[in-house]
Amino acid sequence: MNADLVVVGSGLFGLTVAERCANELGLRVLVLERRDHIGGNAYSEPEPQTGIEVHRYGSHLFHTANARVWEYVNRFTSFTPYQHRVYSVHKGQVYPMPINLGTICAFFGRHLSPDEARDLVARQAAEVTRAGNLEEKAISLIGRPLYEAFIRGYTAKQWQTAPAELPAEIIGRLPVRYTFDGRYFDDPYQGLPTDGYAAWLERMADHPNIEIRLGADFFDLRESLAGAVPVVYTGPLDRYFGYAEGELGWRTLDFETSVLPTGDFQGTSVINYADEDLPWTRIHEFRHLHPERTWYPDDATVIMREFSRFAGRTDEPYYPINTPYDRARLRSYRDLAKGERDVWFGGRLGTYQYLDMHMAIAAALTLYENRLRARFAARVPE
Ligand code: FAD
Ligand code: UDP
Repeated sequence: MNADLVVVGSGLFGLTVAERCANELGLRVLVLERRDHIGGNAYSEPEPQTGIEVHRYGSHLFHTANARVWEYVNRFTSFTPYQHRVYSVHKGQVYPMPINLGTICAFFGRHLSPDEARDLVARQAAEVTRAGNLEEKAISLIGRPLYEAFIRGYTAKQWQTAPAELPAEIIGRLPVRYTFDGRYFDDPYQGLPTDGYAAWLERMADHPNIEIRLGADFFDLRESLAGAVPVVYTGPLDRYFGYAEGELGWRTLDFETSVLPTGDFQGTSVINYADEDLPWTRIHEFRHLHPERTWYPDDATVIMREFSRFAGRTDEPYYPINTPYDRARLRSYRDLAKGERDVWFGGRLGTYQYLDMHMAIAAALTLYENRLRARFAARVPE
């Protein structure tokens, strides 16, 4: 293919750009994908023995408050009404997570009204006067006892970085509620793609002008492309520049999948493990993501234990750590990125940002509307 645009990475950022440019501008888009499948970390596939849809990179829950993104994604898939609820195990007891009135009552072993719970937590949170990092922010929201039970150990396993070094925004992702509402997300639009992620992602890429090349690493082809074709790059930012400013810190994950001879292993889709004596952070049981799929077997289930560790250069980078040291390096990389002609950096890896799916899609739509459309304006079909 003689491409007008090369997109590096077929995650939701790359696919959104490819879809818009092919459908609206008639561009020929070549998508290079290092892995053997499209869709980045959102990819899912049926486990062969049971047919249960497994999210290869951990449970992916779609949720957004952005009506524009919701309208856009509904062009490619419908969504089930699934609402995510998580539980957390601490010292052999199970509690609802994120922290809500049910968690607070169970943890303190008392029936508290919303106002009583608020007063109790406010007293326990009073020791913190600023919320400049994850630890301070968490204690300011929930007080020290709940922080030490549900956040400190989990965060130690997830990040292996002192909570005082981590940005406050990480914990800001979790709501704290003084009601018994135990949903993981507040967003008005939530659900799972009815036919699975792979079907959704394939429909986005289904256009005669889009060519997807799997197993293709941009860095093996870079010389032949150099400067000739505009590029949207969604791989790791530091790798693009040959780590010239040093490595940005990433966490990677190891997933351990098992098929078990029972119809239900844990009674829900995700259980978090708050204590450090167990090495995994959470266990996913995928059948519970689709209660409407009555054809799933009742004598087998698929679970996945998730473990977190520092990423080396050959590991998949999943979570930007974002210490103050990383942020200083990121500023240098952003300066380098500004100097690249006809290259746009996007997505979780390309901008070194913690992006959910809806955020990656929103950012890609914005890049398309504000930059790419103008760049290719002369080519817009009549
Ligand atoms: P990615 O999905 O990471 O895609 C980038 C793609 O680029 C990858 O396929 C990669 O192989 C490819 N690539 C990289 N370098 C090269 C190269 N040199 N050449 C060719 N290809 C390359 N979001 C939610 O909304 N809800 C969730 O519940 C949720 N859970 C998550 C759980 C985990 C464990 C993780 C890691 C992420 C989760 N996310 C979730 C976020 C979501 O998976 C995506 O990260 C997000 O949509 C951003 O998409 P992206 O396109 O930027 O990146
Ligand atoms: N977190 C925690 N205990 C939990 C769940 C989350 O301490 O039971 C903290 C942890 O630091 C985590 C952050 O809150 O990284 C954000 O949680 P979220 O579930 O959004 O993380 P993700 O699903 O993206 O891994």
